[in-house]
Amino acid sequence: MAAFIMWDPRHESMPREALEALQLKRLRDTVARIHARVPFYRKALDERGVTAQSLRSLADLRRLPLTQKSDLRDTYPFGLFAVPLADIVRIHASSGTTGKPIVVGYTREDLALWTEVMARVLTAGGVGRDDVVHNAYGYGLFTGGLGFHYGAERVGATVIPMSGGFTERQLQVLRDLGSSVLCCTPSYAIYLAEEIAAAGFGPRDLKLRVGFFGAEPWSEQMRREIEQRLGILAMDIYGLSEIVGPGVSVECPEQRGLHIFEDHFLPEVIDPATLEPLPPGQVGELVLTSLTKQAIPLLRYRTRDLTALTYEPCPCGRTGARMSKVTGRSDDMLIIRGVNLFPSQVESVLMALPELEPQYLLVVRRERALDELEVRVEAKAEALAAGPEAVERLRRQVEHEIRQRVGLAAAVRLVEPRTLERSVGKAKRVLDERRLDE
Ligand SMILES: [Zn+2]
Repeated sequence: MAAFIMWDPRHESMPREALEALQLKRLRDTVARIHARVPFYRKALDERGVTAQSLRSLADLRRLPLTQKSDLRDTYPFGLFAVPLADIVRIHASSGTTGKPIVVGYTREDLALWTEVMARVLTAGGVGRDDVVHNAYGYGLFTGGLGFHYGAERVGATVIPMSGGFTERQLQVLRDLGSSVLCCTPSYAIYLAEEIAAAGFGPRDLKLRVGFFGAEPWSEQMRREIEQRLGILAMDIYGLSEIVGPGVSVECPEQRGLHIFEDHFLPEVIDPATLEPLPPGQVGELVLTSLTKQAIPLLRYRTRDLTALTYEPCPCGRTGARMSKVTGRSDDMLIIRGVNLFPSQVESVLMALPELEPQYLLVVRRERALDELEVRVEAKAEALAAGPEAVERLRRQVEHEIRQRVGLAAAVRLVEPRTLERSVGKAKRVLDERRLDE
């Protein structure tokens, strides 16, 4: 595999000094533009006495206000737009599970930028004109489908716009049309792999060689599982609608973190409690400032995703900061009997056990004022067929491993394979019943 190919070497491998000079110039341009056009930011900038000219170095970034998801909700639908609606050529929106959705817009320039960063993403996995891209991210208001679609067309690949669902048809297309690239959520990749196995064929009957997985946190163990079951290289991608959609960062084949496209997105990591910036290497909340977006430029947007940054040089030659694999969102963090828990921590434990399937659900209840955690996980058919004593031994082993590695007592329930609910998009890993009676 041509491991070190870049779509845009000039920007992707720009020397740090030149990159930072470009970032500062673009940051000033952005601040000047939104001060002039977005009342929300004008007020916040004026209160801090910040003007574009007063930003002397990137360290001045911390003088800028943070932006939160609630700011987008409070100004719903178009309050943070920096251009008139006539200049908007596309709208996307987040699936608002509670309350109003987040509405984002794109100018023609924004769509061109998005297409370019997605071309960088696909090229990092060696995708080019000879590839057939099976795009099973959802099309529609969600940014996943169209983001990959435009990027794959830009690199000259053949795009199959599958969207999610209709799994039987997905299998037929994968096999008959010789797809070489799979794009979907990691949980849907596992589901497809299960259905492929159940239909009696395997990786050798397919031409898949690489996949791009994102839109939900997933563990290193889940990556190995996908790679093994589908016989592919599984690349991690990152993005969010508020910033651009997919295309903020991607792994290079070194698989040692995701390179952020820093000429467009300026990253920081902050302590989510104190809001103070954290040094490289420390895990905290990722905060992104858009440097080139026209429709909705956001200053210091709190992503809620937990990661750490490194600026160490990477053998691939890309110079953009790398973010570690996102293993949790501060929103997803469960507090159980005072212990912080991310679903991906339990996932890591479960997937290290070969008797289990990569399908699980955490159920949290409150009984007699005490939080109870139940972990439902599918066991392999062979493991369940080994007799009640062996099954009970396995169950206790899982409980033991969780207690040892996560520091929480959980009740483990082993269930039959293919009985937990599957998702064609983002997986639901938690059922928190405490919220129902609060
Ligand atoms: Zn690299």
